[in-house]
Amino acid sequence: MLSPSLATVSYIGATILFILSLGGLSHPESSRRGNLYGMIGMTIAVLATVFGPRVTMAGLPWIIAAMLVGGSVGLYAAKKVQMTQMPELVALMHSLVGLAAALVGFANYIDPAAAHGLSSAEKSIHEMEIYIGILIGAVTFSGSIIAFGKLSGKIGGKPLLLPGRHWLNLLGLLVVIVFGWQFLHAESVSAGMIGLTVMTVIALLFGIHMVMAIGGADMPVVVSMLNSYSGWAASATGFMLNNDLLIVTGALVGSSGAILSYIMCRAMNRQFLSVIAGGFGTSGGTPAPAAGGEQPPGEVVAVSAAETAELLREAKNVIIVPGYGMAVAQAQHTVYEITQLLREKGVNVRFGIHPVAGRMPGHMNVLLAEARVPYDIVMEMDELNEDFPDTDVAMVIGANDIVNPAAQDDPNSPIAGMPVLEVWKAKTSIVMKRSMASGYAGVDNPLFYKENNRMLFGDAKKMLDEVFVALKA
Ligand code: NDP
Repeated sequence: MLSPSLATVSYIGATILFILSLGGLSHPESSRRGNLYGMIGMTIAVLATVFGPRVTMAGLPWIIAAMLVGGSVGLYAAKKVQMTQMPELVALMHSLVGLAAALVGFANYIDPAAAHGLSSAEKSIHEMEIYIGILIGAVTFSGSIIAFGKLSGKIGGKPLLLPGRHWLNLLGLLVVIVFGWQFLHAESVSAGMIGLTVMTVIALLFGIHMVMAIGGADMPVVVSMLNSYSGWAASATGFMLNNDLLIVTGALVGSSGAILSYIMCRAMNRQFLSVIAGGFGTSGGTPAPAAGGEQPPGEVVAVSAAETAELLREAKNVIIVPGYGMAVAQAQHTVYEITQLLREKGVNVRFGIHPVAGRMPGHMNVLLAEARVPYDIVMEMDELNEDFPDTDVAMVIGANDIVNPAAQDDPNSPIAGMPVLEVWKAKTSIVMKRSMASGYAGVDNPLFYKENNRMLFGDAKKMLDEVFVALKA
């Protein structure tokens, strides 16, 4: 068993490694190192806690048994999960952090030893930590479960708008405050449980309502926001358990999630508060033709893989815009093979990454890194948007919302105002997808009807394989 001072030193070491990890993760080239720091930090943190001074010998077998069960479930899930299911898995993980915070809060309140020896002021602070910790935990838990449903397609992307929803939320907040007061002044644990339980139910309902009210196009902000909440929930658990490492780690996750939410909001030209208030995408937007709505003007022109190869062969400048469909088709390796071939022929090939492409922050960067695409040809949207007019071919692979000109042209579109990759400004744009179906935001895309646009219909991997063969021929 570790002495208290050795445990503290280990905690400080783990904290430093977590900070280095975050630093490393901020750039693709250093991200592997960042991950490694994080893993070492977490191993030190877990060992220092399990073998630390606060765990008794009698408790050790329970902890180890729980770790074996949890670790096996985690290992199994991580091995089995498809790359396309990653965002849902992340949402599910956030929900577990929330659930843990709420359960620790209840256990802490019931445990007579937790408040033993505290002065009346300290006891009030301790109870406030419990109340707020369970509140954040419950909102994170139910909100993440709904986000999981929305990301996996089990729940529709349309925002649920209850009449007077802001008033409902306000009423919920008032009830939480009133019962908080009752909880803090409760005479006994069983009396306090009333306030705690009512607040937990309201927090769970609020989490469901908050995420249900958010339209498909705004989900990226919700994902990063729940990421941030899970950090604050962990931090709250740290306060309840008097564990400094958990407080610091939670705060690191919470604040980095908040920064990510800000970046996502900026990428989508949204106000953070308006996204949370929900209801974007309710004014209708242009319905997809499949739903019987009016088609945008113009004609859809389909091309074959051979024609696509011909266009690429003649091009000097090519920009590839990957989206969620590339992840579904697992086409990143073929994309890179084509890129190598074109580069060998002297074509300038670059990748344009939209901040909300795919279904989780950094989704496309991860896929391209996996396929070993060099980082120096992977550009952010802002770095590249001006270059489309000088581009011969813009190749869109399984992307839709992020290249939708309606975001700029149609003020009634649910994605109005969202910056997009302006592929239609290239001499020719080629969109690779299986059908005319809309993307995650559920809106039709006028790009498909533009004069200089071509559609290469089919599974992205299959079509790219054909393009590759035609290019080599
Ligand atoms: P979209 O969801 O807009 O479009 C993806 C397109 O890929 C679909 O239209 C689909 O068309 C096509 N596709 C699917 N499977 C295949 C396949 N096997 N082969 C070829 N094409 C395929 O994705 P984008 O990346 O353009 O935009 C991301 C969207 O997701 C945005 O609306 C964003 O707000 C949202 N979002 C992003 C999150 C993030 O953190 N990045 C989180 C949550 C939501 P078809 O069916 O015709 O093939």
